[in-house]
Amino acid sequence: MNPRNRRQISTMVFDGLTHHVCLCRGFRDGLPVFGWGEAPSTLLTRAQLREAGLRPNGQDPVALLVFRHVKPFAHETVAELFSVERAALKRTATPAQLVALSRAMDARRVCVDCGVVQDYCVPTSTRQCGTCEDTAMADQIGVAA
Ligand SMILES: [Zn+2]
Repeated sequence: MNPRNRRQISTMVFDGLTHHVCLCRGFRDGLPVFGWGEAPSTLLTRAQLREAGLRPNGQDPVALLVFRHVKPFAHETVAELFSVERAALKRTATPAQLVALSRAMDARRVCVDCGVVQDYCVPTSTRQCGTCEDTAMADQIGVAA
């Protein structure tokens, strides 16, 4: 017998509204466990929700996806599955948040020495632009010599 056929039948009730009858491999922590490619299409992992422009919206996982990687180490991976019906659209930033974000990004581009806003983020270690960093480096070498 193909081990993939050894599954249990379970009924899942979400909020007493939707009844899914599906085949799962058993239960872990009270949640139905599905193998790779076996989960119902209405259940998605966090990453799959994100790809679909959705977020879990504070819901608890309703099932688990358990699979092993094909290659060398065959670690068991457990991913939480969330109900698409209870997911929400990804939040979009408010204008105020966008302003705050752009200010924060500007702050990361300002050189502490020359005060010029660069078109790249200055390194967090020195907070200097490339030119000032080179100058400082040359000065250090000059002092050392
Ligand atoms: Zn500079």
